[in-house]
Amino acid sequence: MSEVRRVQLRVGGEWVDGESEPLVITSPATGEKLAEVEQGTRKNVEQAVDAAWEAHRRLVAMTAFERAQLAHRVADLLTERREEIARDISMEQGKPYAAAALPEVDVAAEMFRDAAEGIKRLETAVIPSSDKAKRIMTIRQARGVYGIITPWNFPVAIPSEYLSAGLATGNAMVWKPSEWTPVSSWHLLNCFLHADVPEGTLNLMLGDPAEMGDEVAGNPGIVAIGLTGSSRTGQIVAQRAAGKPMLLELGGNGPTIIFDDADLDHATRQTALGSFENAGQICDSTERILAQESVADELVAGLVEEAKQVRLGNPLEEGTTMGPLTNEPTAAGMDRHVREAAAKGARVVFGGDRAEGLPTPLYYQPTVIEGVTPDMGFHSEETFGPVAPVGVFSSEEEALRLANAAPLGLVGSVFTSDMGRAIRVAEQLETGVVNINETSAYWQPHTPFGGFSGKQSGIGRIGGRYTLEEMTQLKLITIDVEDRSR
Ligand code: NAD
Repeated sequence: MSEVRRVQLRVGGEWVDGESEPLVITSPATGEKLAEVEQGTRKNVEQAVDAAWEAHRRLVAMTAFERAQLAHRVADLLTERREEIARDISMEQGKPYAAAALPEVDVAAEMFRDAAEGIKRLETAVIPSSDKAKRIMTIRQARGVYGIITPWNFPVAIPSEYLSAGLATGNAMVWKPSEWTPVSSWHLLNCFLHADVPEGTLNLMLGDPAEMGDEVAGNPGIVAIGLTGSSRTGQIVAQRAAGKPMLLELGGNGPTIIFDDADLDHATRQTALGSFENAGQICDSTERILAQESVADELVAGLVEEAKQVRLGNPLEEGTTMGPLTNEPTAAGMDRHVREAAAKGARVVFGGDRAEGLPTPLYYQPTVIEGVTPDMGFHSEETFGPVAPVGVFSSEEEALRLANAAPLGLVGSVFTSDMGRAIRVAEQLETGVVNINETSAYWQPHTPFGGFSGKQSGIGRIGGRYTLEEMTQLKLITIDVEDRSR
């Protein structure tokens, strides 16, 4: 049995209760009660904004090196507490403890270290002047108070992308994490507190997602937004926050093109990894596989063998490689896409349903489907479940046409032994990221990650130096140097 946590809002230096009944959170893995979560209102966001401006003034009075020390301290605390935090991630989000939750905490700690070091090196240009009597320099400044809205699929690592860069650059933050993973948020907040980060730098907002998210996006005291979430939430937030600087990291469905000259064993393993890792609940999961006709049958047979290797079960048990889906809406979305595809003529080759005999109905079988066509949800939407849906193509042109037909464009992947073709396809895929001979779910945290323009996968780039740039504004300073004494 896990300890039942009471999670309160954090406003400035105070823990704050809500005014309505707390929300009870249960584990997708075991069904047991994990937390009682206080439910705040818009009023709490307003109070947090005031506290955040106060903190922002203290943060920017420090040097970058002093803020870097704070970020290093948060990283150290994450590392010290990694086992406790990872256990809670597994319990409330469902990913396997050893294979995925511990690495998630380690990645988060590394993000704080990277931001700490990056801010010391965030140089700006001195620009040549067309006027002899002028010198021109640029500086980067924090924007002020950020609204940060984050999802549940990596409840520690994804917030850390923003929180690390925000702290290092001197922004204070009003953070609305996902309602599904409050305990992970509480851990991160505690790391800030115990690292002696100035009170009010990180304010934790809990409550109705639409109400709290709306206030965070729209409050005039919040001058910039960082959101990672679904494309639908992205559209709502973008409208509400119109005119504010915005970093939006939204949905994807990982188109993966496998040519007949690819190393098929490697492509099969990597594709299965991309489909089943974190039970398919990653923005860059491999959710749409396009196989050249002559290799499609062999690929599907290989994917079935890979699916058989998945060990579905309690995420805290050693050897488990896939845990439950995090919540019922996600499992229902998976049910819907599988049923729809089957009704339209696709064939479920493996899995295709929830697993029986496990503690909750959220455990989904790793699933392989063939005969997927562009009229199916698998093609045009994000599924966010453990599924490898395979369709076919005959030529490079057709592969690109099918891959680019979907409204999402986050990460694509191409498998081929012809490097010229790999580069051609990478250049023409309408995704912000392309992985060659590598799963769509491959990513390094310090690299620029984001959606392709014109698609529904987001605006801007997150990762390392790119987040530091996004969370600061460039200021131009012109200096008159004319000698008026002569
Ligand atoms: P979601 O959009 O349901 O929720 C994200 C956050 O937005 C949560 O904190 C939620 O409470 C809040 N929210 C919900 N309704 C809101 C509203 N009306 N106004 C303001 N905020 C609101 O997404 P989710 O289910 O938590 O996460 C999964 C989604 O996130 C997937 O689409 C996934 O692809 C995406 N994601 C993207 C990336 C990326 O880097 N591009 C990374 C991880 C997840």
